[in-house]
Amino acid sequence: MPAAILAPRASFYPVQVMTREQFYRELIERSNRSPNAHWLAQIIANWRAGEGVLPDCLGLAPPQFDDLLRQCFPGAEIERQAASGKILDFTRMLEREDLEKLLAEFRSSAVAESEWIPAIIVAACLGSNHLWQDLGLWSRKELSALLVHNFPELAVRNTKDMKWKKFLYKQLCEAEGLYLCRAPSCEVCVDYPQCFGPEDDSFS
Ligand code: SF4
Repeated sequence: MPAAILAPRASFYPVQVMTREQFYRELIERSNRSPNAHWLAQIIANWRAGEGVLPDCLGLAPPQFDDLLRQCFPGAEIERQAASGKILDFTRMLEREDLEKLLAEFRSSAVAESEWIPAIIVAACLGSNHLWQDLGLWSRKELSALLVHNFPELAVRNTKDMKWKKFLYKQLCEAEGLYLCRAPSCEVCVDYPQCFGPEDDSFS
């Protein structure tokens, strides 16, 4: 387990080795108690433990990362570098701008932190696991709640409880008028398990 540094600015705290759960609790204690702080604390705790696919600054630009910390976890100082050392190759993500546009279009203007959430989700979409796992959330249920909170009008469209990563990409296809599905309806499609199969496992 890599060392996780979490210390108030301008004061000295010894570097501590913390578990993901301890790190989460430390973050929550310093948080602004917003719903997003709960999910971001999970994401950051997992990321500091070297899990998930998120790169340096969670995929945000450094000033955005600092703004997010100031807003959600005032006084906390967290290293920008991904403990996993992972570097994402956005050159193989041709849909990056479209995904960012989709999420920006639907983000809730009533939620301050939703300004930063899209870039984190887009970075996680480069991973090959379920979106909640690539983000570092602790269960699919947490991801569903995060999306409903930050992108309510988009999330409500997922009426059949499609896997979230698949759902986002399907929105892009439909926006472009592309229908890449191999069947006229999901009910008769051989790919059904990939789009709707269970992904309910959680870390705990
Ligand atoms: S189950 Fe088949 S038809 Fe339905 S969204 Fe997935 S690929 Fe398309």
